[in-house]
Amino acid sequence: MNNKYVAEPYKVKMVEPLRILSKEEREKAIKKAGYNTFLLDSSDVYIDLLTDSGTNAMSDRQWAGLMMGDEAYAGSRNWYHLEKTVQEIMGFKHVVPTHQGRGAENLLSQILVRPGTYIPGNMYFTTTRAHQELNGGTFVDVIIDEAHISDREDVPFKGNIDLKKYESLIKKVGAENIPYICVGVTVNLAGGQPVSMKNLKEVYELSHKYGIRVMFDCTRYVENAYFIKEREEGYKDKSIAEIVKEMFSYADGATMSGKKDGIVNIGGFLAMNEEELYQKATALVVVYEGMPSYGGMSGRDMEAFSIGLKEALDDHYIKHRVEQVKYLGDKLIEGGIPIVKPIGGHAVFLDARKFLPHIPQSQYPAQALAAEIYIESGVRTMERGNVSAGRNKEGKEYFPKLELVRLTIPRRVYSYAHLDYVAEAVINTYERKNQIKGLKFTYEPPVLRFFTGKFEPIE
Ligand SMILES: *Cc1c(COP(=O)(O)O)cnc(C)c1O
Repeated sequence: MNNKYVAEPYKVKMVEPLRILSKEEREKAIKKAGYNTFLLDSSDVYIDLLTDSGTNAMSDRQWAGLMMGDEAYAGSRNWYHLEKTVQEIMGFKHVVPTHQGRGAENLLSQILVRPGTYIPGNMYFTTTRAHQELNGGTFVDVIIDEAHISDREDVPFKGNIDLKKYESLIKKVGAENIPYICVGVTVNLAGGQPVSMKNLKEVYELSHKYGIRVMFDCTRYVENAYFIKEREEGYKDKSIAEIVKEMFSYADGATMSGKKDGIVNIGGFLAMNEEELYQKATALVVVYEGMPSYGGMSGRDMEAFSIGLKEALDDHYIKHRVEQVKYLGDKLIEGGIPIVKPIGGHAVFLDARKFLPHIPQSQYPAQALAAEIYIESGVRTMERGNVSAGRNKEGKEYFPKLELVRLTIPRRVYSYAHLDYVAEAVINTYERKNQIKGLKFTYEPPVLRFFTGKFEPIE
């Protein structure tokens, strides 16, 4: 069938009513939240595109799985389901459960990162880099240059690692000072951009030539696999499960937030092949997360996670997921809105520099834009720009090239009509863009400042 869009591979069995505040109420709410959409009450939000993290709708099977929770302190059968599922899908020998992705990042960074070490990666991720830096390491961005340019539509794998940048880092600081390379699949902050299979293979070979581990941040690995299937030669006729298997054959381990491609509301893990790393991780997980057979998750969480991981590999599911994101992106392009191209796997990113050229980056145009979209419509989005990037060790702001607002689509939650409403909200905001003012901090937290920072408009 030649549909305008991919129809849903599920039907609705339960609904959650939504309400929408008046414009005056929305203005009050965002002011109270310090112009930070993270600080809005969920009940004041109509359509919530803050994140796709933990906001997934679970299936009837996953809900049934919750009822099968084995809430034993140790050796829960749900843990064995989860462990086996990860081993089967990804091919790793060992799995260490954590409450979410950053729990896994904490374990990995505490074990491998030391002062004076460098951790290359394809663009930073907020929590990932925070853990590396808290352990004294230095993150080095080795993504291809095109990833930092918002309209390079001609680059199908903008998440790729630049092998020359990577190798020159190795030569400069020495392979012994690089405990691992962190490869994000897909790259969240580049706009949900994928890494090609060819690049994954090359990174693995180069890393192993120098004895450096390859650790995936595989939080969105199914989305990455879908792009490989669509865009890379030789993968059109392969199943998502087959592509995923091959992807992980180029990794020594991975951290994962189950709140994304695990289609659950909480959960995560650290996986690896290496015995010694596994030993150390199990010793540490009890300090921060819990027993190595639950790691901060309840039995029922682990059951739902195990089922969600399998459901995410369904070809129809992932096609609908990624194409729904593209539907919103295409609507915005039609409306003349500057967005990151090509459109990524989990979100549409507005280019706030182009949207609000009159606001300098020191006045946080993306933060201001997210606040305005909320005032306009009750739609909640998120800043991914100078505020998220934070400050370096010297206290200077990073001023990242990309100054973006993220419209993130939760999995299996919203309809195409909701997305039409969102597109209209953004287009209406664009029409009055000249009235939008920059912001300044009234409270700036020392780390991960975007979560709880507060602002006021610069008059
Ligand atoms: C969400 C996310 C994380 C962190 O996971 P949490 O479950 O939020 O702790 C790490 N990396 C990427 C790419 C993510 O999207």
